[in-house]
Amino acid sequence: MQDLKPTAAPAELGVPWRHRFAGLGPAFHTRLAPMALRKPYWVARSQSMARALGLDEGWWRAQAVLEAFSGNRPLAGSDPLASVYSGHQFGVWAGQLGDGRAHLLGEVQAPDGQWWELQLKGSGLTPYSRMGDGRAVLRSSIREFLCSEAMHGLGIPTTRALCITGSDQPVRREETETAAVVTRASPSFIRFGHFEHFSHHGQPEALKTLADFVIEHFYPDCLEAANPYAALLAAVTQRTAALVAQWQAVGFMHGVMNTDNMSILGLTIDYGPFQFMDGFDPAHICNHSDHAGRYSYQRQPQIAHWNLFALGQALLPLIGEPDDAMAALEPYKQLFPAELDRRMAAKLGFAQASDGTRALVGELLKLMTRERTDWTIFWRRLAEHAAGAPADTVRDLFHDRAAIDHILLQYKELSALDGRAPDADLMLKSNPAIVLRNHLAEQAIALAKQKDFSMVEGLLAALEAPFDEPAAHPEWAGFPPDWASHIQISCSS
Ligand code: AMP
Ligand code: MG
Repeated sequence: MQDLKPTAAPAELGVPWRHRFAGLGPAFHTRLAPMALRKPYWVARSQSMARALGLDEGWWRAQAVLEAFSGNRPLAGSDPLASVYSGHQFGVWAGQLGDGRAHLLGEVQAPDGQWWELQLKGSGLTPYSRMGDGRAVLRSSIREFLCSEAMHGLGIPTTRALCITGSDQPVRREETETAAVVTRASPSFIRFGHFEHFSHHGQPEALKTLADFVIEHFYPDCLEAANPYAALLAAVTQRTAALVAQWQAVGFMHGVMNTDNMSILGLTIDYGPFQFMDGFDPAHICNHSDHAGRYSYQRQPQIAHWNLFALGQALLPLIGEPDDAMAALEPYKQLFPAELDRRMAAKLGFAQASDGTRALVGELLKLMTRERTDWTIFWRRLAEHAAGAPADTVRDLFHDRAAIDHILLQYKELSALDGRAPDADLMLKSNPAIVLRNHLAEQAIALAKQKDFSMVEGLLAALEAPFDEPAAHPEWAGFPPDWASHIQISCSS
């Protein structure tokens, strides 16, 4: 099927543009226009992201804007390109990858001064498409859009999403689906894999140009260090450790932690077969294609460290001494557990972790693993209990009452030792009422396939404020239905 060529005059966003990544030069990217999407229609828009960018509400109404975010018409000021990167996939060197279906349009400046790169995903073939068709399906685009905004609502570092446009244009996956384009926003889309690319392909100058670019624009403090490249690795290590601690605390599984899906800014990036934990199982594998469980919940912290090691290897020509790279990576072993302990203590209502909170969390996780207790509901009910709800709302979640009563008693003793009751406000802000569970996404997708986008919109609103009860849809904060455990999400997107 022949795609349409972009046509017509550029659409105006009315915001300032620049494109620093384009300035890196041709070793880093290929400039090319997106492919057109046939007869596009709006699927979803994030007003909160639009507001952050200073785009006014009426602006969406222009047909030119719909066409622009579908790849059919250029945006005035943009300069689309696809970037090249490489990476390790499932622990194996995969060679050259790159933006196989994404176009980086450039950066726009928000009213608060922050610059955001805008990127279309699913916008057609590029020189890096390999065997792919350059497209993204509606299903995966809705998942990426909603989860980006959900993570932002949870306060977890992430790339953002501005909108989705859809089309009846067919896209072949396991079955025939339809095409969609997500517009993503991030200060940068640079991945560990960008560094690996130039390192593995023997381009030390390009590697240095890239590292200097990232340091200058995103990690300027590193310039003060004796070895700025080792300092960069240390800073990325710190951010990544903090990110994965937040994932673990909220029960988020990324599903495809390949090095090309690791942001150099420590953001969650590339939402595919991700999942929020339902019944707690540390060995849970959310990606149907991950047969060995490399990216299971409990392995995420270790895999992030492995990925940082791959980044360290890529940076070695700049860092110089392997010992300096190892020294930059080493703090991960303290940073990650300390951050996770702090997050888990907050879920229990304590501002700081202690031996007591660590022991209590250990006991709790053992019991929750045994009983497959629902992660989100347990923590939320514990917070509500701290805020005055009866203890039975928590106890009722367990078959082994003696075991949970023992833990609740330990919890009371710990509070007494601490000299104050758990901080209910902290708990209500650390334990979300709603997360984007697979079955919720599936329901929204099923409706969207029939052109009913109301649940996408409703979920977006609820997920933007995940620490509030979803008043209009209390069932979204409830237990997953039985069929949820049979949902299979693979890499196919
Ligand atoms: P992912 O697993 O989605 O992070 O993608 C891994 C690599 O495959 C990246 O280089 C993507 O750009 C590329 N890719 C994934 N799906 C497609 C597609 N449908 N067409 C072209 N490239 C794709
Ligand atoms: Mg990817």
